[in-house]
Amino acid sequence: MKALQLKNIGELHRKDMPVPEPADGEILLRVTRCAVCRTDAKMWKQGQRDLRLPRILGHEICAVSPESGERFAVWPGTSCGHCVFCKKGAENLCREMKILGFHLDGGFAEYVCAPRKSLIPVPDELPGELICLAEPLACTLNALEQCGLQKNQRVLIFGAGPLGLMTGMSVRYFGGFPCIREINPARVEQTAQFRKQMDTALHEGEEDADIVINAAPSSDIFTQGIPLLRPGGFFCLFSGFTDDKMIPAALLNQIHYRQLSVCGAYGCTKKQMETALHILRAYQKDASLLIEKQISLGEVQEILPQILKGQVMKCIIKN
Ligand SMILES: [Zn+2]
Ligand SMILES: [Zn+2]
Repeated sequence: MKALQLKNIGELHRKDMPVPEPADGEILLRVTRCAVCRTDAKMWKQGQRDLRLPRILGHEICAVSPESGERFAVWPGTSCGHCVFCKKGAENLCREMKILGFHLDGGFAEYVCAPRKSLIPVPDELPGELICLAEPLACTLNALEQCGLQKNQRVLIFGAGPLGLMTGMSVRYFGGFPCIREINPARVEQTAQFRKQMDTALHEGEEDADIVINAAPSSDIFTQGIPLLRPGGFFCLFSGFTDDKMIPAALLNQIHYRQLSVCGAYGCTKKQMETALHILRAYQKDASLLIEKQISLGEVQEILPQILKGQVMKCIIKN
């Protein structure tokens, strides 16, 4: 099969590889669409904590069973199923977690093996490229869950990339008010239609918020976001910081005086992916605005630097 393998950091190769053999409990699937995520670009550029090389990347997968023809969104995790985290429905925290496209070969290929229990059947009317959005959208649901989002709360999102906009979509779905801060004027313009349709305001002033989420990797967002939180508010560290700045004690003390909470969010659960599919059905037209283009496996390499620079929205590999 044709595949795209990250051999070392910065070394992505198009290869002919054997079709993988499913292990116990797994099923072989034909990948029909796989989205390229910012994390894929980050892994190519600098690596990632959970990345094991060499690796076929790709964790935002829509695939079909060659036997039954059934189509699935693939929850990319494989968890142990019996630890305290798995039992309480927070399987993304499982210490045995293995993720497709990180620890295990993923969707930048014609075929992928996935555990049967990770498959979510999808409705016919949802196109494959939107099904690929279920995983990142579910990660935004996970972030909002950590912050205990309630109806009518205002959520300030830093970064109007695909993940920032999807966070806005989830906030809307649950009756909150999203607003987005974006420093790149090209991206502000590029996302105007989506923000209009999703009734998502641009945050340009000093309005406060109940929840602040970073959908961009600069730690300056922490410095800017904490003072904007209402008392008792939540800051969610959603995108990992890529710089190494010291946080001043005066800023941390705001967490103390105003009883703020800082939480993290990483990955998603299968249940959150099921909810994400409902949201994608509800906002199908709006969600399709997040897709920049569909590309071939051979075009992935050239798109990665553009993703890192925030020049493109979602790019989807079409097999
Ligand atoms: Zn992703
Ligand atoms: Zn577990």
